[in-house]
Amino acid sequence: MATVTLPGSAVSTRYHAIGRSTVSGMPEWQRLDSDLRHGIDIVARVMPFRTNRYVVENLIDWSRVPGDPIFQLVFPQLGMLSKTDFDDVRTLVEAAADVESIGRAVERIRRGLNPHPAGQLTHNTAKIAGRPLPGVQHKYRETVVFFPAQGQTCHAYCTYCFRWAQFVGMPGMRIEARSTADLVAYLKAHPEVTDILITGGDPMIMATRTLRRYIEPLLAPELEHVQNIRIGTKSLAYWPQRFVSDADADDCLRLFGEVAAANRHLAIMGHYTHPIELQPALAREAIRRIRDTGAQVRMQAPLIRHVNDAPEIWSELWRTGVRLGLVPYYMFIERDTGPHSYFAVPLVRAHEIFRRAAASVSGLARSAQGPTMSALPGKIRILGVVTRTELTDRQRTVAFRNGSSSAVDPREQLLVCDFVQARDASLIQTVFFAAFDPGATWLDQMRPAFGQERFSFEQAGERTAPLHAFTECLLD
Ligand SMILES: *Cc1c(COP(=O)(O)O)cnc(C)c1O
Ligand code: SF4
Repeated sequence: MATVTLPGSAVSTRYHAIGRSTVSGMPEWQRLDSDLRHGIDIVARVMPFRTNRYVVENLIDWSRVPGDPIFQLVFPQLGMLSKTDFDDVRTLVEAAADVESIGRAVERIRRGLNPHPAGQLTHNTAKIAGRPLPGVQHKYRETVVFFPAQGQTCHAYCTYCFRWAQFVGMPGMRIEARSTADLVAYLKAHPEVTDILITGGDPMIMATRTLRRYIEPLLAPELEHVQNIRIGTKSLAYWPQRFVSDADADDCLRLFGEVAAANRHLAIMGHYTHPIELQPALAREAIRRIRDTGAQVRMQAPLIRHVNDAPEIWSELWRTGVRLGLVPYYMFIERDTGPHSYFAVPLVRAHEIFRRAAASVSGLARSAQGPTMSALPGKIRILGVVTRTELTDRQRTVAFRNGSSSAVDPREQLLVCDFVQARDASLIQTVFFAAFDPGATWLDQMRPAFGQERFSFEQAGERTAPLHAFTECLLD
């Protein structure tokens, strides 16, 4: 097989997907404990499982399995299902039950895992003359998110991905656009849009000629106001060959260069979960080649228990990234879908990890914003924890305006939050307070401070509804 030779590496260039039916052919797999293999096989019947040779050979340290972070990131994990659900499937499998019975159990378990967090298909869909445009989302004034139909899968699947329902093919779970004509018409009618974000899945799964069909029309002079084209992708971590040795890699880089030549900024929003992803020479070569086209690579990822929930991991990720010319962008809070309880990190702890990571790097690496939660009203960031006595006069004024009661305990702890992005632009960069709760992992578990019934940005009655309606990929 062909190999790319870079200093210190000889890496296969042919993409080999690995899934439940093919994993047993892997020598690394055969060395694992048989109970672990059996357990993973059970979970993989419910949750999507796809990895590839590059990930297995270059990113996983097999002597550290099952604790290895990338193993946790791409292989189904035993803790992802509840004990009852796990036992239900195991019992059926071990009794050699028929495909239909297993399928019914699997379907029931998937339905119970919040496959489609509230409003995902209905909120923010762009419309032309009242006609909804599938796969075109317009939530924030400046930015339109676009989901090309051919970009709705990935080179490997992250175990925490909220797109899991789409990957296992649950009906009604796909959001996708089939043509750019609607998108272009929409953008022409919306001169306030400066950014288009192409996402998935992973758009870089598309052949360059397909990607070109989506990008070229955006470079037309009539769309001069669309100045930034972002592509959200995990390919730099999971398949850097896409930019180095794939048959259309050079053509892809030419396309990137054409974006710069058309006086637009191309931002590759690299989904980087762990610093190990920046280690292979091939991964660095891919970054170098992209940057040579004039495009910028930014880095973002969710904070995930078992994978990257330590400050040193983030500081190393940002430090190494900056050295390679990347710009840290967002640290996200993991969403409430699928195996959330296995991966969730409480908000207070997430903030502590972010703070300690930021405190140990230079200012260049502190361009990261986080930890942020993409919720219905916007991207909410946890800024820190204060006690009431620490509040400045100005903050106290905000607190009291927000409905503070007279019975004040000065030692009361508060969570300080703000909006880094919001549907209602007047909320952007505004601060609000929440009650301190070390266990809360998402906005719907947060309580407003000062005994208020709801946050000032919430409508009456909204408290009871889950507030995590979103459509965008973790990569956005
Ligand atoms: C994050 C996000 C964007 C981009 O917001 P920026 O703050 O400009 O990065 C756009 N649309 C949606 C739905 C998002 O979640
Ligand atoms: S998080 Fe992104 S890269 Fe990972 S599986 Fe989901 S869509 Fe693909």
